[in-house]
Amino acid sequence: MKTNTDILKEIIDIQKIRKDFPILDSIINGRPLVYFDNAATSQKPWSVIKAIEHYYTDLNSNVHRGVHHLSQQATNAFEASRKKIADFINAAYDHEVIFTKGTTEGINLVAHSYGKKFVQQGDTIIISAMEHHSNIVPWQLLCEDRKATLKIIPINEKGELLLDAFKAMLDEKVKLVSVTYVSNSLGSINPVREIIELAHRKNIPVLLDAAQAVQHIPIDVQELDVDFLAFSGHKMYGPTGIGVLYGKQKWLNQMPPYQGGGEMIKSVSFEATTYNELPFKFEAGTPNIEAAICLGAAVDYINETGLENIQHYEQELLEYATGKLSEIDGIKFIGTSDNKASLVSFIIENVHPYDVGVILDQLGIAVRTGHHCTQPLMDFYGIPGTVRASFAFYNTRAEIDTLVEGVRKAVSMLAVK
Ligand code: PLP
Repeated sequence: MKTNTDILKEIIDIQKIRKDFPILDSIINGRPLVYFDNAATSQKPWSVIKAIEHYYTDLNSNVHRGVHHLSQQATNAFEASRKKIADFINAAYDHEVIFTKGTTEGINLVAHSYGKKFVQQGDTIIISAMEHHSNIVPWQLLCEDRKATLKIIPINEKGELLLDAFKAMLDEKVKLVSVTYVSNSLGSINPVREIIELAHRKNIPVLLDAAQAVQHIPIDVQELDVDFLAFSGHKMYGPTGIGVLYGKQKWLNQMPPYQGGGEMIKSVSFEATTYNELPFKFEAGTPNIEAAICLGAAVDYINETGLENIQHYEQELLEYATGKLSEIDGIKFIGTSDNKASLVSFIIENVHPYDVGVILDQLGIAVRTGHHCTQPLMDFYGIPGTVRASFAFYNTRAEIDTLVEGVRKAVSMLAVK
């Protein structure tokens, strides 16, 4: 009979995959690198690294402006990448995919542009208690500017959103709901389908921060019926400095430009300027051409492996890590939702998370420690921060064993008896 491990071997050929990521062969402090900081940024496969080289050796030119050969080649590759990304999230139109610097810029774009058009004094924006600062501060700025109110969906101790409280907040003053799909600090996968359905019953649009979701969970924006979706290339095996804001065209068409400059205009005179059509209306200036093209290469890589296979494999890693770590005396998991993506956040009695991180680094293990840009969430738990190990599909059970050993060592060195 096939064991669970046999089945996993069939869906993910881990040795082959690890060869695709050259950095995984690194030796750090005399030990093989164990990279568990994937929620901060993922590593890049050869296909993405080579795509960057290919861009600068064969294609480099500005897009959309030149009649010459290279400019056309670069434009074709840039737009082909947009199409790949649109297909990846099943957008109805390629022009609903706006290239940004990352999730942060995508959320700021909506806060500025949608906010300017639709949010007035006395209105409400809803976010949740587990948001990353980049899905808090843009709304605080908007609410301050508009004299609007920011309301927060509360959570329970396990790190799950309280949907009854959310339902009670939905009135005619609410102009937008902006929540994270997956919490970067807790791993909680939020019930976004229900959130969208509840908000839409009152005609309220929903933005999903998918920075921690798009690399773990297949997303179909049409099926979800989500209005805006923001994510970052660098967390999904692509380059830094590129991200995507998906928006339904019915919203994007009504929203004013976010920034002014070249590319986003149809015609300019000192008397009146008219704006370009989607997506260019929201892409002022020369974009990060190389990164946009290479994000397409990252999408190809994910598609070849299969996001469902990735999800399955990562869930197995999560279960294994949770089981092994829970055997350590004094450990407390922060984020114990029944529905989690592949990350574990924990604290250890009488041990500061930072000190654990330093000891793990000495052992070649990269984890993140601190508040993970979710200070209000840490306040909810009454802690300064956690140790966070976040897994990608190139990680292994053996690496988790190394982590567990490392944490045990840290505890034995640091715990105040
Ligand atoms: N939202 C979440 C949930 C995140 O985890 C992050 C980054 O860690 C961001 C937003 C911001 O992403 P970026 O810095 O790529 O814009």
